[in-house]
Amino acid sequence: MTQEQDPIAMVVPPLADNYLSMVLLVDDQVLICEAVRRALADEPDIDLHYCTNSGDAVRTAQELKPTVILQDLVMPGIDGLDLLRTYRATPLLQAVPVIVLSAKDEASTKSDAFRAGANDYLVKLPDRIELIARIRHQTRAYLDHVQRDAAYNALRESQRQLMNANLELQRLTQIDGLTNLGNRRYFNEYMQAEWRRALRSEASIAVLMIDVDRFKGYNDAYGHLEGDEVLKRLAAIINTGASRASDLAARFGGEEFIVVLPGATIEGASAVADRLVRSVRELSISHGDGFVTISVGVAAMVPSVGTSARDLVNAADVALFRAKEAGRDRVEPYDGN
Ligand code: GH3
Ligand code: MG
Ligand code: MG
Repeated sequence: MTQEQDPIAMVVPPLADNYLSMVLLVDDQVLICEAVRRALADEPDIDLHYCTNSGDAVRTAQELKPTVILQDLVMPGIDGLDLLRTYRATPLLQAVPVIVLSAKDEASTKSDAFRAGANDYLVKLPDRIELIARIRHQTRAYLDHVQRDAAYNALRESQRQLMNANLELQRLTQIDGLTNLGNRRYFNEYMQAEWRRALRSEASIAVLMIDVDRFKGYNDAYGHLEGDEVLKRLAAIINTGASRASDLAARFGGEEFIVVLPGATIEGASAVADRLVRSVRELSISHGDGFVTISVGVAAMVPSVGTSARDLVNAADVALFRAKEAGRDRVEPYDGN
């Protein structure tokens, strides 16, 4: 797999050996900002920005995308703890580590800060080495977290694409490419399932076996491509005619179609078949001296132990043969012989 094909490699950069810290210091005292700047000045991997106005802190942080926020607690305007809670409620800043920099050393203040979402707490001014170590530690933890998140999302996305591709593949294995009806394989699966259901519920199930009349002659006269167009139109008519939710129209092969009508009796199925024959005739597709027509064999059974779906399909096939013999363009119900 190349990097372009690999969704995870596209989203997640290779692991960085150097973690670059982008620090945003939010403190109203310029003197503190200056002291922190000096403390970090010699560290090439740490980039410091500061914001002395608490009202600008959230917007600045969203623009800067820091890897660490150093946050003063007591500020004019918005309180440091409130700011902390706002960071935690802001999607872009939610996971950004916050080190509280405070003049206060009491346990209760520290506890409040951690409860509001702080990741660390330093009493100012902290020792330079300690400050640098904590900034680096938080940056590393944050960037690892971001990377893991991106990898996880990329994985989810590729799983979603795979699932869709599988569904589409499954659909394609069930569909006839020319007519968009179910194919023979899908018909077999559907027929078996409906047969078992009818067996359990002792219900009737019917099948229409449909064959286009003198279709070889149509191809010979108008060409195979025109013939294909006719098959598409007939498929649409047949599909519309199989109107109940549980009815299934499929292409059985060549110029033959099959319709499964769960719950239908021989009379009901014959009525559906009559409508189909009439609808096709009324399409008035010229063929020789007349129009394209179909013949339909109809069979219905209440499944019982010892019979199979194949018996039903065979019966419809026998009836179709009779319809052809009797002159085509008609419906013939299977009469049991
Ligand atoms: P009958 O009334 O007895 O059914 O006559 P028929 O000519 O339809 O019967 P036959 O089985 O001899 O010929 C079927 C024809 O259907 C042969 C073939 O050219 C045509 N056919 C089968 N599949 C396709 C297809 O996918 N596209 C086209 N255009 N024609 C097809
Ligand atoms: Mg045929
Ligand atoms: Mg035919």
